[in-house]
Amino acid sequence: MSEGNEAATRTVEDVIDRAVRELDLEVKVELLTGAAAFSLHGNDGIGLRPMIFSDGPTGVRGSEFVGGKKVALFPNATLLAQAWDETAAERVGEMLAGEGHSQDVDVVLGPTVNLHRSALGGRLFEAYAEDPLLSGRLAASYIRGIQRYGIGACVKHYVANESETERHTVDVRVGQAALRELYLLPFEICLAGGHPWTIMAAYNNVNGVAATEHDELNNGVLKSEWGWDGLLMSDWGATKTAAPAANGGLDLVMPGPAGPWGDQLVAAVRSGEVTEATIDDHLTRLLRLAGRVGALEGIPADRTAELGPVVESDAPEMRLTLRNLAAAGMVLLKGQNVLPLQLSLITTDSPLMVIGRHAFDTALQGGGSAAVRPSHEISIADGLQDALGENYLRVLDGVAVRRNPTAALPELIIDPQTGRQGMRVISFDSSGLERASTSSEVGELLVGMSDGPHEGATELELSAELVAPPGASLEVGVRGVGEWTLSYGEETQTFANTLLPGDSAEVGFMSPPTWTQVVEAAPGRLLVARLKISERISLAGLIVQPVAPGDEQLIEQARVAAQDADPAVVVVGLTPEQETEALDKKTLALPGRQDDLVRAVADSARRTVVVINAATPVLMPWLDRVDAVLWVGLPGQEGGHAITDVLLGRTEATGRLVTTFPAADGDGPAWGVSPENGGLEYAEGTRVGYRGWYGSDVEPAFWFGAGLGWGTWDYRSAEHVRDSGGESLTVVLANTADRPSREVVQVYWLPDGSAPIRLVGYAVADDVVPGEERTVTVTCDPRAFRLWDEATFSWATPAGGMFLVARGLGDVRLEIPRA
Ligand code: BGC
Repeated sequence: MSEGNEAATRTVEDVIDRAVRELDLEVKVELLTGAAAFSLHGNDGIGLRPMIFSDGPTGVRGSEFVGGKKVALFPNATLLAQAWDETAAERVGEMLAGEGHSQDVDVVLGPTVNLHRSALGGRLFEAYAEDPLLSGRLAASYIRGIQRYGIGACVKHYVANESETERHTVDVRVGQAALRELYLLPFEICLAGGHPWTIMAAYNNVNGVAATEHDELNNGVLKSEWGWDGLLMSDWGATKTAAPAANGGLDLVMPGPAGPWGDQLVAAVRSGEVTEATIDDHLTRLLRLAGRVGALEGIPADRTAELGPVVESDAPEMRLTLRNLAAAGMVLLKGQNVLPLQLSLITTDSPLMVIGRHAFDTALQGGGSAAVRPSHEISIADGLQDALGENYLRVLDGVAVRRNPTAALPELIIDPQTGRQGMRVISFDSSGLERASTSSEVGELLVGMSDGPHEGATELELSAELVAPPGASLEVGVRGVGEWTLSYGEETQTFANTLLPGDSAEVGFMSPPTWTQVVEAAPGRLLVARLKISERISLAGLIVQPVAPGDEQLIEQARVAAQDADPAVVVVGLTPEQETEALDKKTLALPGRQDDLVRAVADSARRTVVVINAATPVLMPWLDRVDAVLWVGLPGQEGGHAITDVLLGRTEATGRLVTTFPAADGDGPAWGVSPENGGLEYAEGTRVGYRGWYGSDVEPAFWFGAGLGWGTWDYRSAEHVRDSGGESLTVVLANTADRPSREVVQVYWLPDGSAPIRLVGYAVADDVVPGEERTVTVTCDPRAFRLWDEATFSWATPAGGMFLVARGLGDVRLEIPRA
């Protein structure tokens, strides 16, 4: 900025006026595409500094996709949602603002409010729930929490992005009623309650038009009908065109600096296909965001609160909050009489028996762009060991849970140059000359995106010394697509890693193919892998891990170890191979032979507790044979402590499910996620999730809203109240158990006629002591009563119908007419 006084007094409107008047078209257009993977262009002339974005939504990863700064890893969205706690969601937003602030991030790319349509969706773990009201309200709270401190939120992915298969091209065919009552509703609710500064347009098409070009949804619904004044950015690489996207309401193309706008958009303006006023509107929205986050010189960020001192991701205060947030969302699905465990029964003579690969290798987060590098990770074994001490605990490995091994265990590799933990990365250009040599602590890197000194390399060499006693067997290999040469000592192997048929190129870095062999470790010997880089963006990494025994042997060991255990705890779950981006699941069955492991333990132990470490539904064919099931989600960095707290009864598992669990593959109103001829029909219309399960002749394994906790509840009465504040239900309930508990009181409305049932309100009864009767007011959200009339293209608000007060629709406690 120039002239002193102007900077002191200018407003965002001044900057916008000046930019619109004075900047050349080329400059304006340049500002409307990112400058790099996660940053925007600045402009000194108007005092605009480059803004920085970061994923979102379970932590603020920073601009490195792999191996970046160590940050706080939060419980995943479904686990948070299972607490049905808007205050907690807001607190998460506030903590993320702190995380963002300490990395100079201006916008955190979250929350995700796409719905759980089919349980196969690979990315459901990032999205709150199957219900739009719950999703929208939690998102509004999260946004308020972040933006209070002058850091923007980005609600994603607008809209109808409920699965990953063919995500860049799929045409989602969805009726207007379903679009309005389900998929648009969480956006509408969080816009009204949270005023997000940015939204991300999805990869997919909606009814034949790309989401990034959707005039009707972007200019029409979002910007006109809802009056939203924020910035609509594309998902990464989603923008396919210049004029149609610019005219269709997209404000910003991400990432950059290349992309379909630039010269093409300038030409489209020159030819009259796009008006300069349209460009100015996009620019205005971009500068409005800049004003809000404090990226305009002399203009303070739009914040209503000041962040205190930075709280480190491993500070005690952060750790305790993350631990409590995770524990609160855990759901007891079965076994109130078994959990919490009785401490008096855990002795040195009968230590607690815990079995399963997830006990050591706990899935604390999902894969893809949401993944962060946590400052530390507490596995279930760590958590229990901390609480009980090693003499009171026996932890046994279980069967294999992954198809492909993950990155080298950091403690097993040493960079030969520095002698410290990690690997050496040397890159070469096409003439074979060395380009750069760096050390990587994490044993893998992303090629082709923010690769710093290695940018433009055509070949990579990854090398490490292995940390193992001489003669020990290790499984070693590589991750990543391309032609590889791997040597260890004298032995050299050459091979090509390819994607599976049907996998998109993105799978190459979200869930890359691997190659391994078993070697005998020798001191001082180097593992050296060379890769010819072929993919534009791809992951390249070493694999080094101990050799695990075979599944049969592990199952037998478990059976023997569990004999007479009372109880044995078996830990099973999904991994980031299933819960990740760019891929959908094909089955809800637990991967590998985990079901056999549970059966073996259940046959052998006196009582069996199953802990399920996953975010989204899995099949439980052994459900009748086990005594308790605890659903722990993807609990974040403090996961093992949080699970321990619940198992030992230090914290109640107060969660209620946020999605319906099918009992078998194929069950439920919406199942398939594979497009046919490019199209994915949302044929179930408005009957998504519990709305479709209710009244059907197939029973789910567990209903949306189900969960036991420590209490037992007598619902005594419900009264429907209408007053100037709208509609509410006064519900009287009592805790009939002998321990204090928390209940989530859920109110559903069944309209007269054919429209499906829906959640219209919920409220929490907290700390209800044994025998206490509590009166709870459940305020109904008027937006949940609306039905979209496809004929008149408008909302109808029918009267009548029934209210159901339920603990999930499989356990309806009271029914009263809606007067
Ligand atoms: C994801 C977005 C994410 C973006 C940036 C995309 O692949 O769909 O959710 O924010 O990448 O990493």
